[in-house]
Amino acid sequence: MPGTELFGAEERKEIEDVLSTGILFRFNHDALRNNFWKAKDFEAEVIKITHAKYALAVSNGSAAIMAALAASGIGVGDEVICPPFTYIATVEAILMLGALPVFAEIDETLCLSAEGIKQAITSKTKGVCLVHMCGGNANMDEIMAVINHHKLILVEDAGQAFAASYKGVYTGLFGKAGAYSFDFFKIATAGEGGIFVTNDETTFKLADNFSDHGHDHKGNNRGMEKHPIIGFNFRISELNAAVGVAQTRKVPAIRLQNLKNKNFLQKHLSKTKGISFSKLGDEQGDSATFLNLLLPNTEIAMLVVEEMNKAGIGGFNYWYTNMYHFINQWDHIKNLNTTAKLAIEILGPPQDYNNLNLPKTQEVVGRLISFGIRCTWTEEQMIELTTNISSCVNKAQESVIAQ
Ligand SMILES: *Cc1c(COP(=O)(O)O)cnc(C)c1O
Repeated sequence: MPGTELFGAEERKEIEDVLSTGILFRFNHDALRNNFWKAKDFEAEVIKITHAKYALAVSNGSAAIMAALAASGIGVGDEVICPPFTYIATVEAILMLGALPVFAEIDETLCLSAEGIKQAITSKTKGVCLVHMCGGNANMDEIMAVINHHKLILVEDAGQAFAASYKGVYTGLFGKAGAYSFDFFKIATAGEGGIFVTNDETTFKLADNFSDHGHDHKGNNRGMEKHPIIGFNFRISELNAAVGVAQTRKVPAIRLQNLKNKNFLQKHLSKTKGISFSKLGDEQGDSATFLNLLLPNTEIAMLVVEEMNKAGIGGFNYWYTNMYHFINQWDHIKNLNTTAKLAIEILGPPQDYNNLNLPKTQEVVGRLISFGIRCTWTEEQMIELTTNISSCVNKAQESVIAQ
């Protein structure tokens, strides 16, 4: 959570600008706001980093994904291929729009693979919601070949991959639209916040209208304009946007420090037998928010987790059993537990969610242990951490051999 590590005077200054006027709303009130436009500034800072043509700040990353899917033309009955390893918001956004999630295989990039996408395509497939997991990037050349060949809509959930890129193009900008999250746990935080990005003007306008009750924002009196489409309220407040401005300015420096730390950690850990690392579509484009260890198999990974718990090593995620990010923990999705009927319950799920056959995903996530990289770590702290991890990995492997 590098952003939260660096919360300080810059964030306070941006918030105080807003407090000094009391204009917490991103539109109107020109005479009273002392020219403070924090949502607009937040969008401009994100554009500086990603070079997106259009950015729209919204209330959170989940809302940004919904806006991206909706603006891309995904709705009721459309099958959308998505990964079984992601933050649940990806799947929720698809379901809330009445679309039907189809789970496909990931690979060692921790993202959907081109092959996985290909195998999940049916005559009803409308799009793919690709997720760039754990700060990295997917194999975009291979994936775009499948997307283009089958004429699918690509939406990117880059909730965890703001400032990550692939061959110079930033995550979120390969398809129709993309989404970043600025919740409390990301490379930068707005407290709660999200950014929708696209390079397409029409898609931007649709997302902009969709995220504010359909208001078209033409002219300078929001509220008195036209409402070309039905929308909802996904607006961000000026207070959250203010934090987002200060935090986003820190991201290039955070990323460089995290890359240094990740290189240091990997160099030390790669000497230990049994430790390898997740792959990246493009090594140069990592946002380096996570150190992702791959152990030889699930049994050993589970023993390593046990050893690390015994040794009191914290700061890691074992997604396979512990976290809300993996399909094995999604009984509410498998059983379609809802407050009231969603479209999927009327249309029928596109797959038997209780009997999914995703062996590659089970194998990769079973082997995966991720550490959040801190940008404030000292070399001593990193040496202590890698020494402790290596010792736990060695113990786990010795205990397997002894069996
Ligand atoms: C954090 C995250 C989200 C959700 O973002 P919020 O801002 O918490 O709504 C969506 N997708 C992924 C991959 C995430 O990591």
